[in-house]
Amino acid sequence: MWTYDLLKLNMQFRYARCENILRWVIENTYPDVAMTSSFQASGVVLIDMVRGVLPDFPIYFIDTGYHFPETLEFRDRLIHEWDLNVISIRPNPRERNPGKANKEPLYKRNPDLCCKINKVEPLNKLKKRLNVTAWMSAVRRDQNSNRAGFNMFMYDREGYVRIHPLIHWSGQKIWQYIYEKKLPFHPLYDKGYTSIGCFPPECTSQNHSDSDPRQGRWSDTKKTECGLHLDLVKEEENAWIQRLKLRESKK
Ligand code: SF4
Repeated sequence: MWTYDLLKLNMQFRYARCENILRWVIENTYPDVAMTSSFQASGVVLIDMVRGVLPDFPIYFIDTGYHFPETLEFRDRLIHEWDLNVISIRPNPRERNPGKANKEPLYKRNPDLCCKINKVEPLNKLKKRLNVTAWMSAVRRDQNSNRAGFNMFMYDREGYVRIHPLIHWSGQKIWQYIYEKKLPFHPLYDKGYTSIGCFPPECTSQNHSDSDPRQGRWSDTKKTECGLHLDLVKEEENAWIQRLKLRESKK
Protein backbone atom coordinates (compact mmCIF):
# COMPACT_ATOMS: atom_id res chain seq x y z
CA MET A 1 0.00 0.00 0.00
CA TRP A 2 1.43 3.33 -1.07
CA THR A 3 1.90 5.76 1.77
CA TYR A 4 4.14 8.19 -0.09
CA ASP A 5 3.27 11.85 -0.46
CA LEU A 6 2.84 12.24 -4.21
CA LEU A 7 3.33 16.00 -4.12
CA LYS A 8 6.72 15.50 -2.49
CA LEU A 9 7.64 12.78 -4.97
CA ASN A 10 6.76 15.03 -7.90
CA MET A 11 9.04 17.73 -6.51
CA GLN A 12 11.79 15.27 -5.56
CA PHE A 13 11.94 13.71 -9.02
CA ARG A 14 11.06 16.73 -11.20
CA TYR A 15 14.59 16.97 -12.64
CA ALA A 16 15.75 13.41 -11.89
CA ARG A 17 17.07 11.06 -14.52
CA CYS A 18 14.42 8.57 -15.56
CA GLU A 19 16.67 5.66 -14.57
CA ASN A 20 16.85 7.04 -11.01
CA ILE A 21 13.07 7.43 -10.84
CA LEU A 22 12.63 3.82 -11.93
CA ARG A 23 15.24 2.61 -9.48
CA TRP A 24 13.40 4.34 -6.65
CA VAL A 25 10.01 3.00 -7.79
CA ILE A 26 11.20 -0.58 -8.15
CA GLU A 27 13.33 -0.65 -5.00
CA ASN A 28 10.66 0.94 -2.84
CA THR A 29 7.36 -0.28 -4.25
CA TYR A 30 7.77 -3.45 -6.31
CA PRO A 31 5.75 -5.75 -6.39
CA ASP A 32 3.05 -3.22 -5.54
CA VAL A 33 3.26 -1.76 -9.04
CA ALA A 34 2.18 -3.10 -12.45
CA MET A 35 3.55 -1.81 -15.73
CA THR A 36 1.81 -1.98 -19.10
CA SER A 37 3.25 -1.37 -22.54
CA SER A 38 1.94 -1.30 -26.10
CA PHE A 39 5.50 -1.43 -27.47
CA GLN A 40 5.40 1.97 -29.13
CA ALA A 41 8.45 4.23 -29.09
CA SER A 42 8.03 5.62 -25.55
CA GLY A 43 7.23 2.14 -24.29
CA VAL A 44 10.44 0.75 -25.75
CA VAL A 45 12.46 3.49 -24.01
CA LEU A 46 10.76 2.78 -20.70
CA ILE A 47 11.24 -0.97 -21.06
CA ASP A 48 14.91 -0.46 -21.88
CA MET A 49 15.41 1.52 -18.68
CA VAL A 50 13.32 -0.82 -16.53
CA ARG A 51 15.28 -3.88 -17.65
CA GLY A 52 18.44 -2.03 -16.60
CA VAL A 53 17.09 -1.92 -13.04
CA LEU A 54 15.29 -5.26 -12.82
CA PRO A 55 15.67 -7.49 -15.91
CA ASP A 56 12.66 -9.70 -15.21
CA PHE A 57 10.32 -6.91 -14.15
CA PRO A 58 6.86 -7.99 -15.42
CA ILE A 59 5.49 -6.02 -18.36
CA TYR A 60 1.80 -6.47 -19.13
CA PHE A 61 0.54 -6.19 -22.71
CA ILE A 62 -3.19 -5.59 -23.22
CA ASP A 63 -3.99 -7.82 -26.18
CA THR A 64 -7.26 -6.38 -27.47
CA GLY A 65 -7.41 -8.95 -30.27
CA TYR A 66 -7.26 -6.06 -32.73
CA HIS A 67 -3.52 -5.40 -32.82
CA PHE A 68 -1.59 -5.13 -36.06
CA PRO A 69 0.36 -8.32 -36.81
CA GLU A 70 3.45 -6.07 -36.84
CA THR A 71 2.77 -5.13 -33.20
CA LEU A 72 2.60 -8.75 -32.08
CA GLU A 73 5.71 -9.63 -34.08
CA PHE A 74 7.60 -6.66 -32.64
CA ARG A 75 6.50 -7.58 -29.11
CA ASP A 76 7.71 -11.14 -29.63
CA ARG A 77 10.97 -9.95 -31.14
CA LEU A 78 11.73 -7.82 -28.08
CA ILE A 79 10.74 -10.63 -25.72
CA HIS A 80 13.21 -12.88 -27.52
CA GLU A 81 16.08 -10.40 -28.00
CA TRP A 82 15.84 -8.73 -24.58
CA ASP A 83 14.65 -11.77 -22.65
CA LEU A 84 11.68 -9.81 -21.33
CA ASN A 85 9.09 -11.01 -18.88
CA VAL A 86 5.99 -10.01 -20.87
CA ILE A 87 2.54 -11.21 -19.88
CA SER A 88 -0.33 -10.68 -22.31
CA ILE A 89 -3.76 -10.02 -20.85
CA ARG A 90 -6.95 -10.36 -22.85
CA PRO A 91 -10.58 -9.34 -22.55
CA ASN A 92 -13.17 -11.95 -21.74
CA PRO A 93 -13.94 -13.49 -25.19
CA ARG A 94 -17.66 -13.63 -24.34
CA GLU A 95 -17.73 -9.93 -23.59
CA ARG A 96 -15.44 -8.48 -26.22
CA ASN A 97 -17.95 -7.85 -29.01
CA PRO A 98 -21.47 -7.48 -27.61
CA GLY A 99 -24.18 -7.36 -30.25
CA LYS A 100 -21.95 -9.16 -32.72
CA ALA A 101 -25.03 -10.30 -34.68
CA ASN A 102 -25.03 -6.70 -35.80
CA LYS A 103 -23.21 -6.40 -39.11
CA GLU A 104 -21.02 -3.57 -37.96
CA PRO A 105 -18.23 -4.40 -35.52
CA LEU A 106 -18.28 -2.72 -32.14
CA TYR A 107 -15.30 -0.51 -32.94
CA LYS A 108 -17.41 1.10 -35.66
CA ARG A 109 -20.67 1.24 -33.75
CA ASN A 110 -19.34 2.35 -30.40
CA PRO A 111 -15.56 2.77 -30.17
CA ASP A 112 -15.68 4.05 -26.59
CA LEU A 113 -17.46 0.89 -25.45
CA CYS A 114 -15.09 -1.24 -27.52
CA CYS A 115 -12.08 0.39 -25.82
CA LYS A 116 -13.70 0.03 -22.41
CA ILE A 117 -14.35 -3.69 -22.89
CA ASN A 118 -11.13 -4.56 -24.65
CA LYS A 119 -8.62 -2.27 -22.95
CA VAL A 120 -9.86 -0.62 -19.79
CA GLU A 121 -11.65 -3.57 -18.21
CA PRO A 122 -8.76 -6.05 -18.71
CA LEU A 123 -6.45 -3.55 -17.01
CA ASN A 124 -8.89 -2.98 -14.16
CA LYS A 125 -9.17 -6.73 -13.62
CA LEU A 126 -5.39 -7.09 -13.72
CA LYS A 127 -4.86 -4.47 -11.03
CA LYS A 128 -7.39 -6.20 -8.81
CA ARG A 129 -5.94 -9.66 -9.45
CA LEU A 130 -2.39 -8.52 -8.70
CA ASN A 131 -3.65 -6.53 -5.74
CA VAL A 132 -1.41 -3.62 -6.68
CA THR A 133 -2.02 -0.01 -5.79
CA ALA A 134 0.17 1.52 -8.52
CA TRP A 135 0.26 1.38 -12.31
CA MET A 136 3.17 2.58 -14.47
CA SER A 137 3.08 3.52 -18.15
CA ALA A 138 5.03 5.57 -20.71
CA VAL A 139 2.62 8.44 -21.33
CA ARG A 140 4.03 11.92 -21.96
CA ARG A 141 2.62 15.41 -21.56
CA ASP A 142 3.36 16.40 -25.15
CA GLN A 143 1.16 13.64 -26.60
CA ASN A 144 -2.15 15.52 -26.36
CA SER A 145 -4.03 18.13 -24.38
CA ASN A 146 -5.51 15.54 -22.00
CA ARG A 147 -2.08 14.26 -21.00
CA ALA A 148 -0.64 17.78 -20.81
CA GLY A 149 -2.15 18.06 -17.33
CA PHE A 150 -0.68 14.83 -15.95
CA ASN A 151 1.93 14.58 -13.22
CA MET A 152 4.70 12.06 -12.83
CA PHE A 153 2.95 10.62 -9.76
CA MET A 154 -0.79 11.05 -9.46
CA TYR A 155 -3.96 9.35 -8.26
CA ASP A 156 -6.74 8.23 -10.54
CA ARG A 157 -10.34 8.45 -9.49
CA GLU A 158 -10.30 4.94 -8.05
CA GLY A 159 -7.34 5.75 -5.83
CA TYR A 160 -4.66 3.91 -7.76
CA VAL A 161 -1.30 5.64 -7.99
CA ARG A 162 -0.27 6.31 -11.58
CA ILE A 163 3.42 6.58 -12.36
CA HIS A 164 4.62 8.30 -15.53
CA PRO A 165 8.45 8.36 -15.47
CA LEU A 166 8.64 9.82 -19.00
CA ILE A 167 6.03 12.49 -18.43
CA HIS A 168 8.42 15.39 -19.14
CA TRP A 169 10.04 13.82 -22.20
CA SER A 170 9.38 15.16 -25.70
CA GLY A 171 8.87 12.95 -28.73
CA GLN A 172 12.19 14.23 -30.03
CA LYS A 173 13.98 13.10 -26.87
CA ILE A 174 12.39 9.66 -27.15
CA TRP A 175 13.68 9.19 -30.70
CA GLN A 176 17.08 10.60 -29.77
CA TYR A 177 17.35 7.93 -27.04
CA ILE A 178 16.26 5.22 -29.50
CA TYR A 179 18.76 6.25 -32.16
CA GLU A 180 21.66 6.84 -29.76
CA LYS A 181 21.18 3.45 -28.13
CA LYS A 182 20.35 1.79 -31.44
CA LEU A 183 17.16 0.32 -30.03
CA PRO A 184 14.72 -1.54 -32.26
CA PHE A 185 11.41 0.19 -32.90
CA HIS A 186 7.94 -0.74 -34.18
CA PRO A 187 8.15 -1.23 -37.98
CA LEU A 188 5.00 0.81 -38.70
CA TYR A 189 6.82 4.04 -37.78
CA ASP A 190 8.64 3.63 -41.10
CA LYS A 191 5.28 3.42 -42.90
CA GLY A 192 3.88 6.79 -41.84
CA TYR A 193 2.27 5.87 -38.52
CA THR A 194 3.18 8.01 -35.50
CA SER A 195 0.87 6.46 -32.90
CA ILE A 196 -0.02 2.80 -33.15
CA GLY A 197 -3.06 1.19 -31.58
CA CYS A 198 -5.53 -1.31 -33.02
CA PHE A 199 -5.50 -2.17 -36.74
CA PRO A 200 -8.97 -1.00 -37.88
CA PRO A 201 -8.41 2.14 -39.96
CA GLU A 202 -11.11 3.82 -37.86
CA CYS A 203 -8.76 3.45 -34.87
CA THR A 204 -5.27 3.85 -36.31
CA SER A 205 -4.22 5.37 -39.61
CA GLN A 206 -1.16 6.98 -41.08
CA ASN A 207 -0.52 10.48 -39.82
CA HIS A 208 -0.69 13.46 -42.16
CA SER A 209 -0.11 16.12 -39.52
CA ASP A 210 3.30 17.56 -38.67
CA SER A 211 2.16 18.93 -35.34
CA ASP A 212 -0.08 16.25 -33.81
CA PRO A 213 1.53 12.82 -33.35
CA ARG A 214 -1.82 11.25 -32.42
CA GLN A 215 -3.69 12.66 -35.41
CA GLY A 216 -3.99 9.16 -36.90
CA ARG A 217 -5.98 7.80 -33.94
CA TRP A 218 -9.77 7.69 -34.44
CA SER A 219 -9.09 10.45 -36.97
CA ASP A 220 -12.65 10.78 -38.25
CA THR A 221 -14.11 11.30 -34.77
CA LYS A 222 -13.62 13.52 -31.73
CA LYS A 223 -12.26 10.57 -29.74
CA THR A 224 -8.63 11.07 -28.73
CA GLU A 225 -8.08 8.47 -26.00
CA CYS A 226 -8.94 4.82 -25.49
CA GLY A 227 -9.99 5.45 -21.91
CA LEU A 228 -6.92 4.15 -20.11
CA HIS A 229 -5.78 7.72 -19.64
CA LEU A 230 -9.03 9.59 -19.33
CA ASP A 231 -10.11 9.05 -15.75
CA LEU A 232 -7.62 11.51 -14.42
CA VAL A 233 -9.46 14.30 -12.77
CA LYS A 234 -7.51 16.87 -10.86
CA GLU A 235 -10.23 17.36 -8.25
CA GLU A 236 -10.22 13.64 -7.57
CA GLU A 237 -6.48 13.69 -7.24
CA ASN A 238 -6.69 16.49 -4.72
CA ALA A 239 -9.46 14.70 -2.86
CA TRP A 240 -7.28 11.64 -2.47
CA ILE A 241 -4.32 13.67 -1.28
CA GLN A 242 -6.54 15.29 1.33
CA ARG A 243 -7.90 11.91 2.36
CA LEU A 244 -4.40 10.49 2.81
CA LYS A 245 -3.28 13.50 4.81
CA LEU A 246 -6.33 13.17 7.03
CA ARG A 247 -5.60 9.48 7.58
CA GLU A 248 -1.97 10.23 8.45
CA SER A 249 -2.95 12.98 10.86
CA LYS A 250 -5.18 10.51 12.74
CA LYS A 251 -2.36 8.00 13.28
S1 SF4 B 1 -8.75 1.03 -30.46
FE1 SF4 B 1 -10.49 0.43 -31.78
S2 SF4 B 1 -10.48 -1.82 -31.93
FE2 SF4 B 1 -9.07 -1.19 -30.27
S3 SF4 B 1 -10.29 -1.41 -28.44
FE3 SF4 B 1 -10.49 0.75 -29.12
S4 SF4 B 1 -12.27 0.88 -30.52
FE4 SF4 B 1 -11.75 -1.32 -30.19
